[in-house]
Amino acid sequence: MNINRYLMVLAIGTGMIAISLLLFKIPIIAVWELLLVSVSLITVWVYYDWREKKKIEVRKIQDKIKAEKCWCHVCKHTEAQDCIKVNCTCCLLLKKNEILGHESG
Ligand SMILES: [Zn+2]
Ligand SMILES: [Zn+2]
Repeated sequence: MNINRYLMVLAIGTGMIAISLLLFKIPIIAVWELLLVSVSLITVWVYYDWREKKKIEVRKIQDKIKAEKCWCHVCKHTEAQDCIKVNCTCCLLLKKNEILGHESG
């Protein structure tokens, strides 16, 4: 099962239970642990979701670069995928070790 979906169901599920318990006028002192669990689950889920989206984004950028040619005179690569392999600082646009793009010109 997809971990992200599992986390989402778990986070929303516990959140709903906690809220419905509060709606039934159950004192918050009795459900605060459940609230705490649901809040932390939602936090984990949001973080995980963000990280997965970021990973997909990075892969997309890399796929795009891999299809490009490189005419850089510093590293003398012909294919931009070779630049990714060795992390060329001359023609790759890097930001905190993250590849943002490639200067193919
Ligand atoms: Zn290169
Ligand atoms: Zn280069």
